[in-house]
Amino acid sequence: MTQSQEAPIRIGHLYGNLLNTYGDNGNLLMLQYLLKKRGLNYQTEVNSLEETLSKDQYDFILFGGGQDFEQSVVAKNLPSKALALKEYIESDGVLLAICGGFQLLGDYYITAAGQKIQGASLLNHYTERQDNHRFIGDITIHNDEFNEDYVGYENHNGMTFIKEPVKSLGKVISGNGNNGQDGTEGARYKNVFCSYFHGPLLVRNPHLADHLIDLVLKRRQEQA
Ligand code: GLN
Repeated sequence: MTQSQEAPIRIGHLYGNLLNTYGDNGNLLMLQYLLKKRGLNYQTEVNSLEETLSKDQYDFILFGGGQDFEQSVVAKNLPSKALALKEYIESDGVLLAICGGFQLLGDYYITAAGQKIQGASLLNHYTERQDNHRFIGDITIHNDEFNEDYVGYENHNGMTFIKEPVKSLGKVISGNGNNGQDGTEGARYKNVFCSYFHGPLLVRNPHLADHLIDLVLKRRQEQA
């Protein structure tokens, strides 16, 4: 499907009624604010349990974070969207996944209670649990790709381990990041950006929001 540049930018909030903790919705507000500033139209919708998903449906997808219970509900439905998501990602679709959404894009997530939740296996990472401990607090990372620092707030039990070809979103300067051990934070693959940063990420790091918008516009141009 081709999109003219005047057509509104189609934003999909994946499971937005279930995964939206700690102000993750603010990422969409920031994106909308910056699109408006650039004179661009947009439309936003939640795509959740009841909706179908196709690979050409959106120009930008947000997959937010959530509690273990909501993640387990989402995980049961996720296989119905996994193929479309895979095609979207592999065709350079722009996707931002935060915390729980980040975890669910990988192979699996072990909840705080020890339950194994199957992920969509779209990115090469997996998430283990910590015993009676969460990574909570402010965090700063450095991103080499854009040579920028990003600041945020993390709150997660999960310990995520990324593997090739997935890269990190940045190197931890202070805070814990993916697992508190290897100095990585988040994930980067094609036009997918994953992070544990709540806060929300794009409000606190507007340069990153601009990069995401640039990628959305570039992809639309290539598809036109
Ligand atoms: N429930 C997951 C964890 O604790 C994700 C939390 C979140 O999205 N903030 O690791």
